[in-house]
Order: sequence, then structure tokens, then C-alpha cells
Amino acid sequence: MTPFVQVDLIIKNAVELLTLSPFFREESGLGIIHHGGVAMREGKIFWIGKTDGFPEALVLKPGGQEIDAIGKVVMPGLIDSHTHLIFAGSREHEFEQRIEGLSYLEIAERGGGILSTVEATRKASFDELFSLGKKRLDRMLSKGVTTIEAKSGYGLSLKDELKILEVMKALKENPTIDIVPTFLGAHTVPKEFRHDRARYVDLLTEEMIPKVAEEGLAEFCDIFCEEKAFSLKESRKVLETGKRYGLKPKIHADQLSSGGGAELAAEIGAISADHLEYISETGIERMAEKGVTAVLLPGASFFLAMKRFPPARELIEKGVAVSLATDLNPGSSMTESLPLMMTMGCTMFKMTPREVIQATTIHAARSMGRENEIGSLEIGKKADVLVIDVPNYRYLPYHFGVDHVECVIKRGKVVYQRPT
Ligand SMILES: [Zn+2]
Repeated sequence: MTPFVQVDLIIKNAVELLTLSPFFREESGLGIIHHGGVAMREGKIFWIGKTDGFPEALVLKPGGQEIDAIGKVVMPGLIDSHTHLIFAGSREHEFEQRIEGLSYLEIAERGGGILSTVEATRKASFDELFSLGKKRLDRMLSKGVTTIEAKSGYGLSLKDELKILEVMKALKENPTIDIVPTFLGAHTVPKEFRHDRARYVDLLTEEMIPKVAEEGLAEFCDIFCEEKAFSLKESRKVLETGKRYGLKPKIHADQLSSGGGAELAAEIGAISADHLEYISETGIERMAEKGVTAVLLPGASFFLAMKRFPPARELIEKGVAVSLATDLNPGSSMTESLPLMMTMGCTMFKMTPREVIQATTIHAARSMGRENEIGSLEIGKKADVLVIDVPNYRYLPYHFGVDHVECVIKRGKVVYQRPT
């Protein structure tokens, strides 16, 4: 007699099951199994294959669930690889002022800009930030997101940066979305250090980074490396200090000017370089050589009506893994919708539907060092799975601005079901 194995959740009959696994080689490059099925057990993928070949030995445990995905696409949970999840306040006034033609400087003079968000976030209590974060996570979940990277950076003092990171830690208890925390104390120079930026860099390297590391509140250390933010020299110092304390480097690079940020990312062994609108040829080559993932943020390009886009095609052709993320933040990309970023990746950055799906799953996992756990559907990986009400994968970025996600499964449990 065959020994039976009990599984918790079974999906059958997917018209396309996108594994994103290199072991299912076929022409789409997405590892598609047609008429596919998955079985999940104890939070992990236990079996995957054609529905016809479903092993008889696998049985649903009492109380388990079977989903019929006939006519639908099944794929890994989406991963948002760059968000500024925790902030208070909003900047719709600034949005209107920009439409009316005011410059960044004029907006800042009228009390807008990043420092207004810093002020609001400093004033907000832990509970207020927690509930704002929770609402944003819920919106992300309904778009099919199961893991995000989240940056601090609207506190800019030891106390307020710790408050933000502790809110993230508390939100991690939330069973629906995994949060990978990044310390971005070097987002901008706060008002009180405007005339003594060197002292702020000292505060970052001598107090904030050691404390954040000691408390185990972040996995990565990021910096906004840009003419109007932190110089290459300051960035190197902050990121090297982070490394010494066990925080892996990430970098906001070359967004507004070609400042050598991508080269620095390669030099110091950053896991990702993000933005990259003005990346140089050498920067692209260095990133390819060192395997630095490029995280591109079409929402910011779209919202700020940028004239220049990052060279996604060239990055891909030179062998750089490209991820797409929302950059969720109140100033330049107020959105939780990763599917919308997929469409923008196609139309603005000329990425193909296949590439934007890779960019929000396996490449996004890579940008946070999680490619062995998430980002593809393979036996033993986390059972973070989506059932999407679309007839094929190309349809997902094509029909934009509406919610196609029917069901989100996190660690083998249904955590979101689209209201009918
Ligand atoms: Zn950012």
C-alpha cells in the first residue's frame, strides 16, 4: 500500500503555472507548466507539476483546501524590493503645486519636500505609524505582494529612526507580508544639521548604525548618494561602517545625476543599486561584473514626469538582474501597486512582460538576498503563491489599473481572497 502524505493546500488546473524556476526550461523563460498544479505542506512547496501527474499519495489533510485554478494563472507572490513603508502625513498639496509649475526649491520654501515628512513622522506616535503601516500592507496584499523591503529614513535622529524600525519589527508579526528592514538614516541631512553635515555623518556612523545593529533592527544599510544628498565619499564611509556592523549595503544611486553611485555599489559589494536613471556605461559594466541587482522605480519616473529613464534594456542585455519596485513614499511615488509598476516597466522602460514578472519575483528576491527562499515556485521554497484571474501571463501587465489577484497564499495559507 502506498503511504499517504497529508498536504495543507492544493491548487490544480492552472492554465499557466509560472514557476520562475530555471529547472523548468521552456521558451517563455518563466518556467511555465501548462495545466499545472501545486501542493503545499507546512508552509512550503511540497510538490509541483502537471495536474494530470498529481501523485495519488498526496491527500488533503482534514480542514485542508483545494483551489481549482481553471482558466487562471498561478505564480509566486510578488516581492516589492524598495519601499519607504513608514511615514506620517501626505503631500498632495505639493503634488498640486508641482502641477502648477512650482520648482522643488519653491515647494521646499513653502514647507513641502522631504523635511515636511520628517517633521510629521517625528511627531507621530508608534501606534499612529503602526496603523498607517498596517493599512499600506493591506493594500499591498490585495495587489498580490507577499514580501517587501522597507526603509527607515523619515526620522533622521537616533530616537526617531529607532521608532520607525521598531514599528516595522512590530508589523513583522503580521502573518500576511514579510518585511525585510533597511536602515536609511542617510536619506537626507536633517534641518538641525544643515550647517554641519559632517556631524550628521558622524552621528550616523558613531551612534545610529552601531545602535541599529546592536538591536538587530535592520538587515541592510542604504544611503541616498546624490549631489543634493550625500557625496560619494560620505556614502562610502556610511556604507563601510554599516558593513563593519553586519548591515549589508544598498544604495540610492544616480537618480538625478551621474555621480558614480553604481560604481561605488560594485566596489563595496552592495546587494543592489536603486534608481539608476543616470548610470554611466562603466557603472553598468561594474554592476554586471559584481552581480549587483538593479532596482528600478518606474513609479517615481512617472509621478515626477522625468524626461530620462534608467537604461533597463542595456542593463538586461549586459547581464544585470533587474528588479522593479514601487518606491512607495509620499513625495515621489505614492502607490502600493506593484502590478502597475509592471505595466510602467513595459511601456516606459521597454521591458517585456516576461522581464517585468521576473523583476517582481525572482530578481526582487535577489535584491534582498532571499532568492533561495522566495521568488519562484520550487519544492522546499516558501509557499507564497498567487492565483490570478487572467488567461495568460502577458495579460497581467497589459490590462492595467485594475485588480486581477484573486487569492494570495502566504506560507501555505490563504490570507487574501478578492471580494466577489
Ligand atoms: Zn527610495
